[in-house]
Amino acid sequence: MSRYRGSVCRQCRRENMKLFLKGDRCFSDKCSFDRRGYPPGEHGQKRGKQSDYGIQLREKQKVRRIYGISEKQFRISFKRADRQKGITGTNLLSILETRLDNAVFRMGFVNSRNQGRHFVRHNHFVVNGKKVNIPSYQVKKGDVVELREKSRKIQAISESLDAIVRRGIPQWLEIDKDKFKGQVVGTPVREDITLPIQEQLIVELYSK
Ligand code: SF4
Repeated sequence: MSRYRGSVCRQCRRENMKLFLKGDRCFSDKCSFDRRGYPPGEHGQKRGKQSDYGIQLREKQKVRRIYGISEKQFRISFKRADRQKGITGTNLLSILETRLDNAVFRMGFVNSRNQGRHFVRHNHFVVNGKKVNIPSYQVKKGDVVELREKSRKIQAISESLDAIVRRGIPQWLEIDKDKFKGQVVGTPVREDITLPIQEQLIVELYSK
């Protein structure tokens, strides 16, 4: 499936909640959802009652959009989560959280997952001293993620690191701002994901 290239804010309106896909803009009065908090399209304001399937589908789409991944990648992640021990829904969220593009976002190097994916693809980060340009790369406990020397003057990165206090860092990550270095010190737990996600609905959807 090809990448979504339409309006990012439209996705928030579609899912009827702020997905925080545009960095600082999401916290400003320019947020489209704050201004027009109803679904897009001609009949957006007349949405009827949803079926169970519709509710499950929307939940899956919401999570997929938060992490900015394709249907195919999402399914691959789900299959991996299903094969692991424990609760499939929690495993899925943990797999999504430990993607490298999400990890650099959560460490504060970038102000959105989209931007994280862009910078990872353009070789701005090394993991344990080795160049990694795969956004879906899974970081694990002990990994050190570092911004490459030549990338340290990028304004977007310094601005994002300056906003780190406001955003906060989850307990499974640590960051040394001055050395442009972050470390994975644990594994993400359910409480680290503060957005209202009902992952069991996704499990039900894929179990049909
Ligand atoms: Fe969503 Fe952010 Fe756009 Fe607001 S500004 S609609 S939160 S992506």
